[in-house]
Amino acid sequence: MIKMQDLKAITVEGKKILIRVDFNVPLDGQRVRDDTRIKAALPTIKLLSSRGARLVLVSHLGRPKGEPREELRMDPVAARLSDLLGKKVRKLDQITGLEVETAVTEMKDGEILLLENVRFAKGEEQNDPEFARSLAKPFDLFVNDAFGTAHRAHASTVGVADYIPALPGLLMKREVEELSSCLEEPKRPLTAILGGAKVSDKIGVVSRFLQLADNLLIGGGMANTFLSAEGFNLGSSFFEPEQLKNAADLIRQSKKSACRLFLPVDLVVTKNLEAGSEYQTIDISAVDDDWKAVDIGPETASVFSGIVQDSKLIVWNGPLGVFEIPPFEQGTETVARAITDSAAYSIIGGGDLVAAVESLGLADRFSFISTGGGATLEFWEGKELPGIKILQ
Ligand code: ADP
Ligand code: MG
Repeated sequence: MIKMQDLKAITVEGKKILIRVDFNVPLDGQRVRDDTRIKAALPTIKLLSSRGARLVLVSHLGRPKGEPREELRMDPVAARLSDLLGKKVRKLDQITGLEVETAVTEMKDGEILLLENVRFAKGEEQNDPEFARSLAKPFDLFVNDAFGTAHRAHASTVGVADYIPALPGLLMKREVEELSSCLEEPKRPLTAILGGAKVSDKIGVVSRFLQLADNLLIGGGMANTFLSAEGFNLGSSFFEPEQLKNAADLIRQSKKSACRLFLPVDLVVTKNLEAGSEYQTIDISAVDDDWKAVDIGPETASVFSGIVQDSKLIVWNGPLGVFEIPPFEQGTETVARAITDSAAYSIIGGGDLVAAVESLGLADRFSFISTGGGATLEFWEGKELPGIKILQ
């Protein structure tokens, strides 16, 4: 397992600490629509604040591409964070510079400040050393608690660590420990489930789990490309012709591997991707030209559920159907219920899958929900994440 330092073992009283958090939350105008990510950072914030650190939080929000954008200011986030903490969090309109330095100098022990959206600065995504230096300047210590952006080498996730000592936050440490539990000496049987839209996003993970897991279950849009590589006609389903060769290679890899690969045996198909449109369940060999596969069928869901029930550890990324349009969430729901009813340890990740299980009311029955999307996938692929590397 990757070794991470324990923030609880550090003396922080009176220290000026910059914390990179992932407050990239969905907004409804001036309101935070979903505060899951803010809540996820609270343990680190509360720990450091209660121990007398002077905390300055920094995050990105949306994609302002290096320019200030009124609708992407951090004010609504500061308001929600103040509510959640039950104490006022002051928000600054700057990210670096004299105002920030003065404000930090005037802070009292335990006080919390939030900087402006770090992606308003051009130097952030370019990991510009000058920008990183001025961001780090007022601080004694850097704490990275933003696992969701750990796969990006930006100034606020990586660059600042050239100037001040860097430590993992509690969330970062927990993510790394939970996610690595399936990589080294996992509990077995280990079952990996992959869904979502694209094979191209997930080839590396498919290949890695073919080496690591006992079972690999594939559903969602990416299953269409695999079925097509097996010679089935998928009608007008979403699929990626340019990924056919990769899918065929992975199927070949699975034949040599101890891991069993499961693709759908039946599908839910529709002519129009909209609520209320006509749909039917058919065998994978019976998709007609103007029909689209939008979910795994009930027989597939039952095969997947059976495997899940016999597993000790389950990792899952990506929904198994177009869950946004009922009733095409049924495959995802059946498998989610099989997992949460089983005794297996379950880890899920991916923005859309997490949204799906939340809307099904099942989220808190999984053992661990990763806050990462791309970062979780890259971690499972075995890539070295720059935001984690600087913490070791
Ligand atoms: P995650 O965010 O969980 O990693 P992805 O972003 O990879 O998942 O994919 C999620 C998207 O995949 C959803 O919008 C869902 O509608 C879509 N999807 C799932 N199954 C299909 C399918 N059969 N055809 C087209 N799109 C699909
Ligand atoms: Mg997604």
